[in-house]
Amino acid sequence: MKLSPNAPLVRFACPAACLALGLVAPLRAQDSLADQYRDAAGRLLGAALVDIEGFAKLEYLTTHIGHRLSGSTSLEAAVAWTHESMGREGLATRLQPCMVPHWVRGAESVELLEPEQRSMAMLGLGGSVGTGPEGLRAEVVVVTSFDELESLGREAVQGKIVAYAVEWKGYGATVAYRSRGASRAAALGAVGVLVRSATDSSLNTPHTGALRYADDAAKIPAAALPPEETEWMLRQQLAGKKIVVRMNMEAETLPDAPSANVIAEIRGSELSDEVVVMGGHLDSWDVGTGAHDDGAACMAAWHALTLVQRAGLVPRRTLRVVLWTNEENGLAGGRAYREGLGDSAASHVAAIEMDGGCERPTGFGLSLAGRSTEGDDEGYERAFAMLADICSLFDAIDASEVQRGGGGADIGPLMRDGVPGLGFRTVGEHYFDWHHTRADTLDKVEPDHFRRAVGMLAVVGFVLADMPETLDPSTR
Ligand SMILES: [Zn+2]
Repeated sequence: MKLSPNAPLVRFACPAACLALGLVAPLRAQDSLADQYRDAAGRLLGAALVDIEGFAKLEYLTTHIGHRLSGSTSLEAAVAWTHESMGREGLATRLQPCMVPHWVRGAESVELLEPEQRSMAMLGLGGSVGTGPEGLRAEVVVVTSFDELESLGREAVQGKIVAYAVEWKGYGATVAYRSRGASRAAALGAVGVLVRSATDSSLNTPHTGALRYADDAAKIPAAALPPEETEWMLRQQLAGKKIVVRMNMEAETLPDAPSANVIAEIRGSELSDEVVVMGGHLDSWDVGTGAHDDGAACMAAWHALTLVQRAGLVPRRTLRVVLWTNEENGLAGGRAYREGLGDSAASHVAAIEMDGGCERPTGFGLSLAGRSTEGDDEGYERAFAMLADICSLFDAIDASEVQRGGGGADIGPLMRDGVPGLGFRTVGEHYFDWHHTRADTLDKVEPDHFRRAVGMLAVVGFVLADMPETLDPSTR
């Protein structure tokens, strides 16, 4: 059934029997967005679901370029390769240069000396200082929370290595010990910290990630241990055993290095100054190859744009993909992108970020600056209904769920200035098993899940860039 764009219609095709039974859906004054874009979505989703080139891009990135830590030559190889390849596909491309932190890990180890001798799986935290060539040998004091650390006080902590054997209470709560644990312990005289990895389940796998030193505390070496090791230490301490370790870390921070956001776009046919931006971060940690975090998102967003272009679809507004640099340890790329827009972000009608891995997609989340997601804000409810209408196009792949709240770190600066923010959502069953580990590699990405992500980004990006209205007219 071909529907003319603006004609009233019976919403659901209905066999004659339905008509006879009086089960005809109500007439609508206007087509739903899903109906207006059903043909385009079918072409984009169909192309994505049989595609093999997008996954080949991810294979190249993760296998032949490798990890992409800020300041590394491999990140800049990824910047150059994506930029050139996008250009070869005929997309309008440019680089947006910015300086990024340059932290290097070097050799590192944690040796347990007492109550037994063995090495422990570990990863230094991004941004940590090193131990010096002689290493750091000290007794360990294990705590299960910041409150416990504070109650022990300086007397118990001074000169010791603090081990945080904290409970997993979700990423947001547990990651606080990775971010702030070093400075909180240093303020009480600790000389080093060992932090439980921010993960729920582990096969003795340490997870790295950025720490933040406070200005008013000494900078002490910090490393992540697998939960197996922090919990073992806690049991030893409760049994009255003395725990001694030696930390060796060559980590150091070099002067900032040049990098760039990679930008590609299809310019809008009518409102080219209005932009829908989507993407992920091209940088990764230096362990594993950043397949889920966030290589798959970058390749999916790029390939989504490729498929829109190949389908010959030119949206009314500009549809732009940005591969942000330096999300992991600085957010320099996200900031540079916002600063590049000047005084106002009002040119941007929506920003879509995918940075939660590429497991089976379920839909999108939505946030609007300053608007409640609790059901009591008319503007939010209107936008939510529009997005739900668009996402109903993903019913066939069981990915039409719209959640209240969405966005991401790289589009944070845009969202704070009023741009509607969308976060790509997945089932999220295993992401934090792989996140920031040596195990974040291509074999963990299911090609079918990746293809769905490509198709969904293509459809949502295209529809938001082409539809008559915008999600939040109040910001324009
Ligand atoms: Zn990420």
